[in-house]
Amino acid sequence: MSRRPLHTSSPPAASLRARLDRARVAAADANTDALLIAPGSDLRYLIGQAGGSFERLTTLVVQAGDAPARLVVPKLETPGYAGVPTGELGIEVVPWVDGDDPYRLVADCLGTPGRVAVSDTMAALHVLALRAALAGAEQTLAGPVLRELRMRKDATEIAALRRAAEAIDRVHARMGEWLRAGRTEAEVGTDIAAAIVEEGHTQADFVIVGSGPNGASPHHDVSDRVIEQGDVVVVDIGGPIAEGYNSDSTRTYSIGQPRERDVIESYAVLQRAQHAAVEAACPGATAQEVDAAARDIIAAAGLGEFFIHRTGHGIGLDVHEEPYIVGGNDLPLEPGIAFSVEPGIYQPGRWGARIEDIVVVTSDGAESLNTRPHELVVLDS
Ligand code: ZN
Ligand code: ZN
Ligand code: ZN
Repeated sequence: MSRRPLHTSSPPAASLRARLDRARVAAADANTDALLIAPGSDLRYLIGQAGGSFERLTTLVVQAGDAPARLVVPKLETPGYAGVPTGELGIEVVPWVDGDDPYRLVADCLGTPGRVAVSDTMAALHVLALRAALAGAEQTLAGPVLRELRMRKDATEIAALRRAAEAIDRVHARMGEWLRAGRTEAEVGTDIAAAIVEEGHTQADFVIVGSGPNGASPHHDVSDRVIEQGDVVVVDIGGPIAEGYNSDSTRTYSIGQPRERDVIESYAVLQRAQHAAVEAACPGATAQEVDAAARDIIAAAGLGEFFIHRTGHGIGLDVHEEPYIVGGNDLPLEPGIAFSVEPGIYQPGRWGARIEDIVVVTSDGAESLNTRPHELVVLDS
């Protein structure tokens, strides 16, 4: 089973080679003998291909030091890696066939390591089998090692995030074509999903159309609820572009003037909170300070209990990745770190609102990659 989009593009071999070298150094810095990378975004980051196998082990073995990286992969899956410049990357491909013990192959690459770090997303069946094959090694997570690389985006990655943001902005700009009273959330969602692809994504990853009371559930999907005049509607949408980088943007719409009397005043608070969080983001500010900038404003308006999630999340090859913009995260921001700023106010049983832009930290502040207006968008019906 493969979740690879049909058309993808990957960075030049020189960038991938530099990433692999940095991964080796990061592993050494973390006193880790080897990183064992499973298919997914970590693998795509390092070799330009996400791969995809489940019960058969595929893993990229990246050792601290100069040993060549090795891709242990089922022989039948090797065509999927044909586009990977293994020669230029110095990657040795180690194919195995059904009946072989792939865990033994990994162990043979490594000798007697003291500590190995496995991908956060590696399936438990592989983690436990590797534990048995490398009985003397402590297992840790590779996520904290790789986040040091992945959360600092280079110019090419930021350019890709910008293209993704522009594509999702074009979808929001067209919302009036689909979002009207008398249609169900699911009908509107189907049209939005098609537009996400039309405007330049390889697929629509998620489409949230939370109308009326459904807007109070931040991760609502779509439902058969018929949208009514006076509804406030939270539309949170995104997906990857060919380079694998994701969009994720929320705007809140009203079908005619909002029916609930407290919407306008609360929405103004939300707008100020979102703006304050973006203003707070700059090199040296911590992730939790950005969260607090939004939260303090909402709390001061007496609405703190209705803002029920963190202010944002990092974004890149994954929609949700490090760093998380949340209380307790004292990570200092640096130029090139990209994340969402998405405070929300959720009134159970009545309505919800959220404003979400992706921002990237610059040398002296943060730039919003999404540029649609932040006002409550009143659609005539
Ligand atoms: Zn979310
Ligand atoms: Zn979102
Ligand atoms: Zn988000």
